[in-house]
Amino acid sequence: MPALLRRHLLLGLAATAVALHAASPSKAQAPASAGPPDPALVEDLVAANRILVDQGVVDGYGHVSARHPASAERYLMARSIAPELVTAADIMEYDLDSVPVDARGRGSYLERFIHGEIYRARPDVRAIVHNHSPSVIPFGVTGVPLRPLYHMSAFLAGGVPVFDIRQASGGMTDMLVRDAALGRALAGTLGAAPVALMRGHGAVVVGPSLPVVVFRSVYTEVNARLQAQALALGGTVTYLDPEEARRAEASITGTIGRPWELWKRKAQGR
Ligand SMILES: [Zn+2]
Repeated sequence: MPALLRRHLLLGLAATAVALHAASPSKAQAPASAGPPDPALVEDLVAANRILVDQGVVDGYGHVSARHPASAERYLMARSIAPELVTAADIMEYDLDSVPVDARGRGSYLERFIHGEIYRARPDVRAIVHNHSPSVIPFGVTGVPLRPLYHMSAFLAGGVPVFDIRQASGGMTDMLVRDAALGRALAGTLGAAPVALMRGHGAVVVGPSLPVVVFRSVYTEVNARLQAQALALGGTVTYLDPEEARRAEASITGTIGRPWELWKRKAQGR
């Protein structure tokens, strides 16, 4: 083969190789780990999963996460598994884009973007629950606002916004918050509140710790059940006055360790 022709051939092959390389998706770099989390936090996260099952807040679906204690840019959450089955070995680390640090073949929850985008939007939040808590569903679809009618749910007094995925996406979806844009929209609806309902789906609950977010999840479900019962009786419902709610929340906040200890012990006894 003449040298010139061979050179053209080689150049052509090289160009093809470059084009192929550019066309193939580059393997995304896994984010760096913030380091091994405190085992006590992992233990609490495992317990939180089981408590939420025991209390009827989650079933085979739903998830709970905690912000990584060593980095505000990382959070911890179980692999895609039913909450009742979660053990310490299932806990994975994610960055705020909800990319796993070290998946090792483990699957991720489709709706993990709820967690990443709320942690990004809310520096005060250190724990998040997403659930399909049954009693809250009617309040997400009727326009009847969820409001606190007893002292245990005083934290709802600032109002409970409702996220409508149809408005957020501008069309039809499978109802799941399955990407970062929907996660950001949900975080926007939540604003500074502790709870947002998700129309036709469930709720997201946030807090400064796992015990608080579990407490809020349990008593959001209970308040919704009681409020529906009170409304069904047909009389005029007296809700907590904002000042009553403020005082009640201040008192109850100091006692959350009590039910947490009980719930955790029961969850670990199984
Ligand atoms: Zn969901």
